[in-house]
Amino acid sequence: MTSISRATTMSRVTTSAPHQALYRRWRAQTFSEIVGQQAVVVTLRNAVRTNAVAHGLLFVGPRGTGKTSMARILAKALNCTNLVDGEPDDTCEACVAIRDGRALDVVEMDAASNNKVDDMRDLLPRVYTAPSDLRRKVFIVDEVQRIKEGWDVLLKTLEEPPDHVAFIFCTTDSSQIRPAVVSRLQRFDFRRLTVPEIEGKLHRILADDGRPTDEDAVHLIAQLAAGGMRDAEGMLDQLLAGGTERLTADAVRDLLGLADAETVRAFVKALLEGEALVGIEVLDRLEERGRDLRSFMDQAVEVVRAELGASLVSPAAARRGALISTGRRLAAIDPARGGPGGLRFQLELALLDSPPSDSHSEARAGHVAASATVRPEPPAADLGARVGEPVDQLSEQVAEPVSQPAQQVAEPVSKPAPDPLPDETPTAGAVAADQVAPGKPAAGREQPPPATTEPVVPDDQSPATDLDALRHRWPEIVAVISAHPPTKPLILACRPISVEGTVVTLGFPEGQSFLRDVAERRRSVLEEGISRFLGHPVAVRCVATNLDVDPLGSDDEGTRLLAEARRIFADDLVDAREVS
Ligand SMILES: [Zn+2]
Repeated sequence: MTSISRATTMSRVTTSAPHQALYRRWRAQTFSEIVGQQAVVVTLRNAVRTNAVAHGLLFVGPRGTGKTSMARILAKALNCTNLVDGEPDDTCEACVAIRDGRALDVVEMDAASNNKVDDMRDLLPRVYTAPSDLRRKVFIVDEVQRIKEGWDVLLKTLEEPPDHVAFIFCTTDSSQIRPAVVSRLQRFDFRRLTVPEIEGKLHRILADDGRPTDEDAVHLIAQLAAGGMRDAEGMLDQLLAGGTERLTADAVRDLLGLADAETVRAFVKALLEGEALVGIEVLDRLEERGRDLRSFMDQAVEVVRAELGASLVSPAAARRGALISTGRRLAAIDPARGGPGGLRFQLELALLDSPPSDSHSEARAGHVAASATVRPEPPAADLGARVGEPVDQLSEQVAEPVSQPAQQVAEPVSKPAPDPLPDETPTAGAVAADQVAPGKPAAGREQPPPATTEPVVPDDQSPATDLDALRHRWPEIVAVISAHPPTKPLILACRPISVEGTVVTLGFPEGQSFLRDVAERRRSVLEEGISRFLGHPVAVRCVATNLDVDPLGSDDEGTRLLAEARRIFADDLVDAREVS
């Protein structure tokens, strides 16, 4: 389909919604609109054409690679009254009902969201009743690996399924599903999308939007999405909501706190050639511009990895030794370590530890001499002082709108604020590690800002549980945490979904799970803000959930919260459109 006819279809589908996430607006509606996954498409279309679709199918693949879209298209194909060569027409009554999510015979469930299913036995009564409107009843179950109960009963059904039923199970991790179940299902593997595939779709969306865009911005988004179209569309959504005239690679880096490629290469060069002062200047500039050191380190590792790959062919082989040693030094860094020995200090140590390469040893000696004259104080004290800088910077940003100006005066730089939170508890750490998407940087934390702002005392009539308290006062919490500009898009996108002991779980919409990844890195700001509201320290854990299934504005409570948020933010709600 061309982008023009696509746009026509879309306007028909979406006129009622004020703002709909890009990934939903541009969700593939037919097999031919699916990007990538050609092997799956070909097999399924053939099965539809020959009326040989299995009763139980298993879609396996990473987040955001089109499993649910494919399942819905297959549900259409099984029910379409105008099939053409195995392709549903997307216009007959059955197709439209399925597309609009109002077909009673297509049952979508998610083991991790509001339309929750814990136990396969819950499905059975619905399996054996005949379809009400359509030919085939289709059960689509997402995140099926999380369902632990009731499989034995379902296994019997899968062995002799009623003719009118099809099960489509989707999972990101098939190893969590019992082999007896997997063996009864026809398995389809969804692969990560390639950068050009993602770029292609982003270009179609942007052309439709009429937004001038730099090629390298689209390329960067496609790379950062790590094979997930939904993440790519989520990023683009966020960037377009920001309202900049032209979409540039810089805007993408700003959103994600990334350094530009030149800066990363300059730092790696400094590491390779033992130019510690050059490297330290790079770190200074990054922090002045509010860049995230964790992402920066991930970027540096990527550059070293790429150069190591290149060194396997002869011309660059001479550099391999230096690259390996640099890689080892970077790999030894623990980005999660806070306090004075945190990431900044570790990066500086890595720079100072660089072996002089033969061709640069002279230059390096020169730098060391210069260093000795310009900086007479012992290196350790100097570096210790530098570690304090990001803390003060962050505290200024956070405290600015809510604290007295006097408090913005930097504290003694050699004494970074103590971390008030139990941030390295095994639970929090383990959760963070589990939640990191493959290929994404490890989750970590920034220095929490010192508590210079006034503690926010809970209401007198504070609700019974912490979760109630959080939900009740969420708009205020959002308002306060939004005062820290880099954290604003994060706090606007999420909402509290549970409190267990001192661990607060924040849910991010799956379509914007990249924000979840960024939030993981800025967890300390979220923890600091929420702790002040609850009156005790908390650890924050960020998860991606199907929030879009149950958006904030869909019930009375949500409407009230949004109204409250609007009152607080006035017109400043541009980037909150996703949840409205
Ligand atoms: Zn149809």
